[in-house]
Amino acid sequence: LKSQLVKKSDYLWELPPHVKKGMRVPAQVYASKKILEEIGGDKSLEQLTNVAMLPGITKASIVMPDVHEGYGFPIGGIAATAWPDGGISPGGIGYDINCGVRLLTSNLQKEDLKGRGEELAKALYAQIPSGVGKGGNIQLSEKELDKVLTLGVQWALKNGYANKEDIDKIESRGRLDNADPVCVSEYAKKRGIDQLGTIGSGNHFVEVSYVDKIFDQEVAQIFGLREGQLTILIHTGSRGLGHQIASDYMKLMVASMGKYGIEVPDRELACVPFNSQEGQQYFKSMAAAANYAWCNRQVITWEIRNAWKEFFKGKDTKLGVLYDVAHNIAKVEEHVVEGKKKKLIVHRKGSTRSFGPGHPEVTECYKSTGQPVIIPGSMGTASYVMAGTAQAMDESFGSTCHGAGRRMSRRAAQRAVNIHELEKELVGKNIFVRAGSRSGVSEEAPIAYKDIEEVIEVVHQAGLAKKIARLRPLAVIKG
Ligand code: 5GP
Ligand code: MN
Ligand code: MN
Repeated sequence: LKSQLVKKSDYLWELPPHVKKGMRVPAQVYASKKILEEIGGDKSLEQLTNVAMLPGITKASIVMPDVHEGYGFPIGGIAATAWPDGGISPGGIGYDINCGVRLLTSNLQKEDLKGRGEELAKALYAQIPSGVGKGGNIQLSEKELDKVLTLGVQWALKNGYANKEDIDKIESRGRLDNADPVCVSEYAKKRGIDQLGTIGSGNHFVEVSYVDKIFDQEVAQIFGLREGQLTILIHTGSRGLGHQIASDYMKLMVASMGKYGIEVPDRELACVPFNSQEGQQYFKSMAAAANYAWCNRQVITWEIRNAWKEFFKGKDTKLGVLYDVAHNIAKVEEHVVEGKKKKLIVHRKGSTRSFGPGHPEVTECYKSTGQPVIIPGSMGTASYVMAGTAQAMDESFGSTCHGAGRRMSRRAAQRAVNIHELEKELVGKNIFVRAGSRSGVSEEAPIAYKDIEEVIEVVHQAGLAKKIARLRPLAVIKG
């Protein structure tokens, strides 16, 4: 397939629909020549062309430069299907529903931490529960859990885990109002009841970083960023609850697809019409998991605020939310396709919303700049803060990449990485990592990921998001 890619521009490549039987739209890859060399060693291009066969798929099946193989759909992908009867597919959202990233901004500078990086990593590790299946500090009753699922961050606000100012700085204000806990299985609820405020395993993290470089002074100022400032990245999702919802509905969709005459080339692409009973049940469940994930990142924010206050006693310990983005989610949105306004079901799987200036869904304080877009790189390299663009609205359903993206599978990374060497290297760079599992850390080694600089350059040059600031890690808490 790779050899059949047609160059559309320096950063966009396309597989026309005739390369594979059943494709309804072209398959598009945003990449530089260098990134292209690393793509296609896995099933991602195959998967991308499969997605182009989804019922109702509109314009193109798209992947970003952080693309790699996922469950059915590639990670780093966008699939928009026609509302109201186009397909909705759990595989197009991912098992970690509303996995996403939040960035906190502090009033402290790198110098305020001087020599205490390791101590801070320890202090945060002690406050924030992490690890596979790990429970948290909050005991919810079943009734309260249902409220979390229905109200999202509004629940956190009512219960003292959020400030009023936080809410406006969260995608969808931290709540999808079509969520319905009735559609969520008892088992999914059981898995989620004690996990609020926990990071989870492996790829999820809390990372103290600092602003290393500013690319756009004006926007950085509006975002509240300045050089040398300490910031905190939070990356986690809906934990066992979201995973169980995804599994439950995957099964249901495989079983009910036939009823709607839907055929897909891979069971992992199982989908049903959005407006079918099963489609609506899933969408309401997905929204519940999304609300849980926003609440989870909010409670973690609260935990960090407590730890920060104690650690930097006597200093200005205020922590604000810059923004919170979902990168595994489906939403009903309006986009202009071939000159016509269309309502679509936009699946973003390992892809970040990148709405441009003036968009009605962009919060008031960022209306002039476009929404903040937060792109983590790896624990040893940089991460980026970007801003959404009008061009993303035109080209990629208002979407961009979500990370550097894997270059190596977890297993390959475990084989390739010597954990002692890695630790030495990181400490040499003054980066302190605290993790529950050492093998988990090697899976997440910087070499397991693509070059974040190159990935960011692609989306910036392609106009899908604009570089605002670069962050560098200081202390990382891993699951
Ligand atoms: P995913 O959601 O696909 O698991 O991860 C999103 C992105 O986070 C990855 O593509 C990778 O670039 C980035 N990432 C993974 N681990 C870390 C980390 O420890 N620190 C930072 N800053 N980024 C990470
Ligand atoms: Mn994620
Ligand atoms: Mn996740």
